[in-house]
Amino acid sequence: MKKKFFITTPIYYVNSTPHIGHAATTTVADIIARYYRQKGNDVFFLTGTDEHGLKIAQAAQKAKKDPQTFCDQVSEKFKVAWKKLNISYDFFIRTTDPRHEKVVKEFLERIHQRGDIYKGKYEGLYCIECEKFLTEKELVNGHCPYHPKSKVIHQSEENYFFRLSKYAPQLISLIENPQTNYIFPEGKRKEILAKLKEGIEDVSISREKVKWGIPLPWDKKHTVYVWVDALINYYSATRFVKGKKDFWPANLHLIGKEILWFHTVIWQAMLLSAGLPLPQKIFAHSFYTIDGEKMSKSLGNVIYPEEMVEKFGADGARYLIATSFPYRDDADTGWERMKEKYNADLANNLGNLISRVAKIGERLSLTNPRGERRFWPEMEAKVENLNLPAALDWLWQTKITACNLVLNQQKPWEKPKAEARKIIAEIIVQIQNISFNLAPFLPETSKKIDHIFAPGKKLTAPQKVLFPRLK
Ligand SMILES: [Zn+2]
Repeated sequence: MKKKFFITTPIYYVNSTPHIGHAATTTVADIIARYYRQKGNDVFFLTGTDEHGLKIAQAAQKAKKDPQTFCDQVSEKFKVAWKKLNISYDFFIRTTDPRHEKVVKEFLERIHQRGDIYKGKYEGLYCIECEKFLTEKELVNGHCPYHPKSKVIHQSEENYFFRLSKYAPQLISLIENPQTNYIFPEGKRKEILAKLKEGIEDVSISREKVKWGIPLPWDKKHTVYVWVDALINYYSATRFVKGKKDFWPANLHLIGKEILWFHTVIWQAMLLSAGLPLPQKIFAHSFYTIDGEKMSKSLGNVIYPEEMVEKFGADGARYLIATSFPYRDDADTGWERMKEKYNADLANNLGNLISRVAKIGERLSLTNPRGERRFWPEMEAKVENLNLPAALDWLWQTKITACNLVLNQQKPWEKPKAEARKIIAEIIVQIQNISFNLAPFLPETSKKIDHIFAPGKKLTAPQKVLFPRLK
């Protein structure tokens, strides 16, 4: 029996098109999914789009489209972007899929029967951009901390509430126990723990005035709050996607830090209430800044994945995303820096190594040796901790740069043929294993390298360089 590994990205809200932030979460999830597949696990990699709620209804209206057509079109843009980045998801879920809607109703019915839902009146502040209620305490200069330009509205309506507060003690003890803690990295665990200990309120799970949503099974005048609907996707996919029933609970929910609370508190409490097992790990990464500034449409500095793929190729874009991935703190990036990194690491270092070794080996009429292929333990440790920048840095410093150094120092081209062949053969064994370790990150490049250095095959230098230098 293969070990199961279920990894998810957040489902992206279809009010905007994919940018480098979405691309980073999805690319990193893809790298992790490919890594576990390569280790022989049975992987289920889920991504998709979140399509209900007031903001989508408004955006559709503005675009003069009915909401479903609008969702179909934007959702497609995410699929196109992921195809360009060579994302190997197993299923793309959409919350307007009737099969998902059915599971949402069943799920809510279950926690309703459990006695965890009651009717009440909601009065308070709301950020439409986040589709989220805010407390006075959370405001920054009277605005949502994530949307300083849009207005926070006052809402007063009848809602159904979920008894979130009831689950706080249980969540605290789960998070405090290192054996059952599911929040990573450590800074995020502390943040959530402190917030939980301050005391939490119950949360509204329905909307009276929002039509674009899933009707509550016991009161059709209300629709399910878009966040509650969205969170259930992780579970619903395992109910209706063929052959995935045994994949719940998820091994890893990969998310951005802005949605930490929903995933680590509300979602967990919902699962506890429904009597379902909790995901093993929720990993929240940080944000990108672009040349020291916040990324925003109004600053005109938004980086789109399609542009990255156009400039650097799919693997180039994947490499630049993985090496700059804000896995713990915010990380800065920018076009100029990306180009320098691409040229230094891919065109000069890796690309050069491959073409030099292939050319010399061809001249020596070498047959490729049969090296062992496995993940280096140093790589495994870093990848499994999601520290992809450190994993790639290690691979480049200790393996790729090292191979180039051996070549420069031993100068096989000055040596007698037998000695030269031995030096090159040893480097090829290293390259074969570098390629194996690179495969989850740069799948196309790894395939090309494997083709050149296929064991037992007579070595022929490729006509084209792997990574053309950019001016
Ligand atoms: Zn907001």
